[in-house]
Amino acid sequence: MVSDDESTLPRRCLALYSGGLDSIVSIKLVAEMGIEVIPLYFATPFFGSQALLQPQKFIADHFKRYGIQPHVVDYTQDFIQILADPRHGYGKHFNPCIDCKIGMLSRARTLLDEMRASFVISGEVLGQRPMSQRRDAMNVIERDSGLKGLLIRPLCARHMPESIPERMGLVNRQALLGIAGRGRTIQERLALRYGLSEIPNPAGGCMLTYAQSAYKVRHTFARFAPGLPEPADLWLDVFGRKFMLDDRTALAVARNEHECDLMALLNHTGNIFLKIIDHPGPLCIMRGEAGPVNLGLAAGICLHYGKARGRSAVKALWGRSPTEMQNSMEAPILAEDTIRGLLLDVQAASGRKE
Ligand code: SF4
Repeated sequence: MVSDDESTLPRRCLALYSGGLDSIVSIKLVAEMGIEVIPLYFATPFFGSQALLQPQKFIADHFKRYGIQPHVVDYTQDFIQILADPRHGYGKHFNPCIDCKIGMLSRARTLLDEMRASFVISGEVLGQRPMSQRRDAMNVIERDSGLKGLLIRPLCARHMPESIPERMGLVNRQALLGIAGRGRTIQERLALRYGLSEIPNPAGGCMLTYAQSAYKVRHTFARFAPGLPEPADLWLDVFGRKFMLDDRTALAVARNEHECDLMALLNHTGNIFLKIIDHPGPLCIMRGEAGPVNLGLAAGICLHYGKARGRSAVKALWGRSPTEMQNSMEAPILAEDTIRGLLLDVQAASGRKE
């Protein structure tokens, strides 16, 4: 996309947009130079779940808050491959940050021509994160994504070699910054300058950086090895309490109304939805062997977490879609020990393994 003549370069770039402060101010900084910035929001069940489940709401929300209209990129399939065997390993938990960044930037590179853009920007800051924002890791990310010379990190660009768009005069290097380290003072000052009324958290909310969630996801990958789980299997690690009814059958039980609403959107082939009839209670999703034994266990667990807990002769409804739960069965009262025995013991396991 980049030629030797600046006049032929589209004044347009792609941005990795995470919804965090650094990516927001990077976008504003480059847009201020008169360059059109197309923000790409890479989403998987583990980060950006709302963008996948309710994309219109997500986009409208970010536009209202930050004046940014992200393009949602479903990164789930790429990410499943990366998670199974990351070339650069995992961070503290099950987060393959270096490979994750390489994968996102590689995907962005493939979109350059299609979106008629000249280069890519990202909100990374030198030395801000231990794994993926060390200088050596940042060099590897730039090289392995195929974006050598075409990746600008506006917040720390002055610590980096000059990029092609800077050399060719498309981007003014003097207007780029030289931030390093974990502080956020400069970014917060910039946020005020750009009129942001709300300063987002820096963490970005990747589930895989949390011990308990990471354990659940790791467990799912181990269960399917040497094959790979489907996205639908992994969504059951995102919401609710997780139970293993047998080696091949998982059950997720919503913990609150919000989770019930989101789980009702997981209309994937192979899911069995359950709820208790005539009593408030959680929505549950089972995947695996849907025989009478597992359905009975699932109904009993569903009953346990609802308002009809402890009542006998209560019925559960189940079906393959949340809007078509037409089958009914009695929900048995299960002993506390039985329920505890089936719960994926996240806390104990994370203490041992993470
Ligand atoms: S924290 Fe999660 S989303 Fe961010 S780079 Fe690491 S794996 Fe990717």
